[in-house]
Amino acid sequence: MPRKFQLEKIRNIGIMAHIDAGKTTTTERILFYTGKIHKIGETHEGAAQMDWMEQEQERGITITSAATTCHWRDHRINIIDTPGHVDFTVEVERSLRVLDGAVAVFCAKGGVEPQSETVWRQADKYNVPRMAFVNKMDIVGADFFNVVDMIKDRLKANPVPVQIPIGKEDNFVGVVDLVNMNARIYKDDLGQNIEVVDIPEELVDLAEEYRENLLENIAEYDEELMIKYLEGEEITPEEITRAIRKATIKTEITPVLCGSSYKNKGVQPLLDAIVDYMPSPLDIPPVKGVSVDSDEELERISSDDEPFSALAFKIVTDPYVGKLAYFRVYSGTLKAGSYVYNSTKGKRERVGRILLMHANKREEVDEVYAGDIAAAVGLKDTATGDTLCDEKNPIVLETMEFPEPVIEVAIEPKTKASQEKMSTALAKLAEEDPTFRTSTNEETGQILIAGMGELHLEIIVDRLLREFKVEANVGNPQVAYKESITVPAEADTKYVRQSGGRGQYGHVKIKIEPQEPGAGYEFVNKIVGGAIPKEFIPAVD
Ligand code: GDP
Repeated sequence: MPRKFQLEKIRNIGIMAHIDAGKTTTTERILFYTGKIHKIGETHEGAAQMDWMEQEQERGITITSAATTCHWRDHRINIIDTPGHVDFTVEVERSLRVLDGAVAVFCAKGGVEPQSETVWRQADKYNVPRMAFVNKMDIVGADFFNVVDMIKDRLKANPVPVQIPIGKEDNFVGVVDLVNMNARIYKDDLGQNIEVVDIPEELVDLAEEYRENLLENIAEYDEELMIKYLEGEEITPEEITRAIRKATIKTEITPVLCGSSYKNKGVQPLLDAIVDYMPSPLDIPPVKGVSVDSDEELERISSDDEPFSALAFKIVTDPYVGKLAYFRVYSGTLKAGSYVYNSTKGKRERVGRILLMHANKREEVDEVYAGDIAAAVGLKDTATGDTLCDEKNPIVLETMEFPEPVIEVAIEPKTKASQEKMSTALAKLAEEDPTFRTSTNEETGQILIAGMGELHLEIIVDRLLREFKVEANVGNPQVAYKESITVPAEADTKYVRQSGGRGQYGHVKIKIEPQEPGAGYEFVNKIVGGAIPKEFIPAVD
């Protein structure tokens, strides 16, 4: 079956934001507009009379998926989830690895928060083309231009407004489009009745100034535009759009838009900008890897004709189908029911079904193509970061960089009966989350779990309970001291070497506590620290 969406019509993007900036709301609105209305004006009546909440409930919009597919202006947009919490920067890292461009959502009042800086730097590292959406223009204290300055100063980016807001706070009514030099006024609460009018009198000068700024910033990225610009000729919106796109993809500029997701203002132009300015898989550099056969460095371009290569970037346990492996196809095609080679594990695996996750349904597809993002059922041995490829052309792709865990604790099930269940569950969680590790300490016999912070491990313990019904305790790991000591001769007892129990200890620290005079000494063979310190009191002769 031929591909439905040509490569140039695919956008794999992430939406990144500081917590509370409005990432969820913006994503929801994107899914709403892409699902419901394809052209502004198409459903003016009817839908406009419906209560927004009702529509939302009716559509049952959920955005829990690691990647959600939607469509706008004949393009397929895959939105890759990028969590906002700082403990999960690794999740950001993982999504940055597989997306081609990102929309950074900022609060019009808060602007660039420390956390947005972290995420921005991560995106810098991967050279991800970005655009910015200054959200919450309707709230008290909203200041578009201040946020633009912050993006410049704090993030050292080159933010270039392609819109300016019309009014702010309660009076935020729409945006001036600097590409088309007109104004979009939102006439209703649903963002469906939009009037395109002349730029309001009082904003004409400011619009001219920012249009000039825009042209200055993009002229050099399009030769024709440059000539026209220098000669003072009329430049068309198409030429401007083309040049913005080029400059954005080269990460020379960050186009800045504004709106209020909550009030449904500015979301359709944001979607237009995603299509217009964000890269397609053809615009990104070829993915790099190493040949399994020859150790030679290889590149795979985004093309269906290349051998299949893909990266598994998220593993989840799905209530309906079990283990789901989200993957990004870099080159070639893959049919459901066929075999892939997991070159990271050195294992051949069968792909059962292939699913595209939409906001409100799952679409089963027969085949996926270069540039696609989908979820596979049936890949039992695949973990996050693994390369999936064509067996005859094995390659290991450059994978994600995961930081080493920073905290480690010991874990024990509350009941001994759950021991095995807990081990299985921990192994499963480690498969999903490459920054979560589990191991057994040979000396103490304790099971250890390691992760990116307290919150991270708390979530793991919570998931053990909720998803696997294992109640567990955690605490500091025990430490076994490997030192031998000489038992004092006057001790009326024999040193008993501890072995067995939870592991082979060899010599462990022995604490000698005097008992009543003449009663000799009692040995306490102790491993210090730990959730539940183990004390062994050997028999006294
Ligand atoms: P996230 O943490 O970035 O996902 O932020 P949310 O989308 O959950 O939004 C955080 C809060 O801000 C919620 O209460 C939203 O209703 C609210 N919010 C989001 N966007 C806007 C907006 O444009 N205007 C206003 N007034 N509130 C908004």
